[in-house]
Amino acid sequence: MTQTHEALAEIVGKEFASNQPEEAFFYSRDGGTMDPKKPDYVVMPRTPEEVQAVMELANLKKIPVVPLGGGQALSGITRALKGGIVLDMKRMNRILEVNEASRYVVVEAGVSQGMLQAYLRKNHPHLKHSMPDSPPSATIAGNILIHGSGHLSQATGFHSEMLNGLEVVLPTGEICKIGSCSTTPYWFSRAPLPDLAGLFVGWHGTTGVVTKLAIKLYPNPKLKDVMIFVTENPEYMPDILFKITGTEMAEDLNVSASEEPHYMEGLQLTIISLTANSEVEMDLKKRTIRETLRSYVNDKEGGFMFIPTFAKGRFLETPMREMVKFADTKKGGGFEYVGAIMPLNLFPEAHEKGLEIAARHNTPYSMGIRIIGRAHSMMFAYAYAFNRADDEDRKKMQKALHETNMAVLELGGIPWKAEEPAQQLILEKMDPETYKLMKRMREALDPNGIMNPGNWEVR
Ligand SMILES: Cc1cc2nc3c(=O)[nH]c(=O)nc-3n(C[C@H](O)[C@H](O)[C@H](O)COP(=O)(O)OP(=O)(O)OC[C@H]3O[C@@H](n4cnc5c(N)ncnc54)[C@H](O)[C@@H]3O)c2cc1C
Repeated sequence: MTQTHEALAEIVGKEFASNQPEEAFFYSRDGGTMDPKKPDYVVMPRTPEEVQAVMELANLKKIPVVPLGGGQALSGITRALKGGIVLDMKRMNRILEVNEASRYVVVEAGVSQGMLQAYLRKNHPHLKHSMPDSPPSATIAGNILIHGSGHLSQATGFHSEMLNGLEVVLPTGEICKIGSCSTTPYWFSRAPLPDLAGLFVGWHGTTGVVTKLAIKLYPNPKLKDVMIFVTENPEYMPDILFKITGTEMAEDLNVSASEEPHYMEGLQLTIISLTANSEVEMDLKKRTIRETLRSYVNDKEGGFMFIPTFAKGRFLETPMREMVKFADTKKGGGFEYVGAIMPLNLFPEAHEKGLEIAARHNTPYSMGIRIIGRAHSMMFAYAYAFNRADDEDRKKMQKALHETNMAVLELGGIPWKAEEPAQQLILEKMDPETYKLMKRMREALDPNGIMNPGNWEVR
């Protein structure tokens, strides 16, 4: 046992601090294309005070610390690029409080999407949170902290906009509260205080370790249904999406354009998810959406697909597994995507780029688009599956992803949860004064540069 390992074991208990090669191997990689990087230690804390003690030790000894939730971001942002400690938050998995009247929940940072969904279904069935389509083991914290999105994002925006407050351990060890919980016993809002959540959201774990957070909950209507509108022409998509969002009737709005299965080739499928509290309300919503797209149907430029009952179930699931089927088409367990955050008007050009890049790399194209905040923006995902057992295939997809990141920036979008090389592309394009501000914030919070170094590298 090294001195550091001994000190870490003293803090969290022997079973929860490892320096063994098996753990280092397992924690060195994720499901994406990035090369593995081994940590020196894997540590699983149980309390904010344990996180605090780990941070104090790491800060004193200048050991890098990488916070880890579900490790499902896919872009290698939880690999220990400079070695050090991977701080796996999964033992901090308590759901602490549901405030029914104010519709929020307070959770520890290791609570997963699946755990919260199951808890609410059992104990508060009339409430729900916005689920991403990621594997249910992804954490609420990890997703919020990278500006994730999910099935309520069409109506309510990025998941980070659903954040009410945080408890964070700073790189120097202080435990700090952000939002209303800093001043009252309630976690109802970030307003009206100065919004310090911006120091932690979008930073890929480079500014502190979140130990608790509160997120908004929403009503859970009894009925669900889905409509699918099909067109061949990507030029129509901004208008189609603008019209649907204009009705304010859809809960979730996704577009799928994929080469597989082959009968889908060349089509844009707009998947319109609906909820309602009565058949009358549902019927009104469906009729309103049909009416808004009537001109496309009349001109024979698009139409609503008949969905047989057996197939409907797949589109009514939350998370919607149908949307992420492409992830395993190569049956090799490898999958990564560039999730470009873009304005809606860029849809046709973004679609064309996707076709071009996939053809150049001789791989099937697959694009999945989620509308965010009533068409205020979209997450345009270019997905690449690969066979993990075939290293040449992994490297080929790594190249395709990098080219996609460059194309997205050129078009006027921004790659989301970017891999380390894509972060550098973003920083190169960034306004120099913004870059300097990021650097100043990071140095102020983390004077010894120990938080997830190598990510958002502005030093
Ligand atoms: C098939 C598939 C579908 C997906 N669909 C979606 C989708 O619909 N919407 C969506 O948003 N995402 C989606 N994703 C991407 C990803 O799975 C999610 O965003 C996921 O929620 C990330 O959460 P995580 O717990 O895995 O985070 P991690 O990967 O563990 O961490 C993400 C980042 O946050 C940091 N971090 C994690 N926990 C903490 C903490 N406590 N304190 C400080 N920093 C922390 C990490 O260091 C890292 O930089 C999908 C992924 C897959 C594989």
